Amino acid sequence: MKTNDLTIRELERAVAADPSDERAAKRLTAWQLRTGAVKAFEVDYSENNSGGSWWLLRESYDALVAAGWTRGRAAYDGTTRGASKVFFAVSEDAAYDAAVAEWTALTGGNATATGCECCGSPHYFSTQAVGPETILALLA
Ligand SMILES: [Zn+2]
Repeated sequence: MKTNDLTIRELERAVAADPSDERAAKRLTAWQLRTGAVKAFEVDYSENNSGGSWWLLRESYDALVAAGWTRGRAAYDGTTRGASKVFFAVSEDAAYDAAVAEWTALTGGNATATGCECCGSPHYFSTQAVGPETILALLA
């Protein structure tokens, strides 16, 4: 049977049976996006040197990049201090939660750390909806 003949239920079963099947996973996500079952949001993480020193190690950024995050801005000292990734989720809040959970698992950081009183939080996350061109490129 050709992949084109797969129904959505068959796609869901294929992804459940073999999560490493990227082709099936992308086809399922594309269908979910078309039907509105999920939406795409880019989550942007930014690090602030609250208290005068950085909060993440370089290894943490390497782990994020290995998991599909894109390196973000470089700080005054030339080190990476941000990262972003597109998440597919039912809502912007769900995308935010998924991103923070993944970031926490990969970096060991505390996303809700308050930092010092004058500098504020060391970790900022923002979300924005992703346009169709970006989604198509991701699913290509
Ligand atoms: Zn401070």
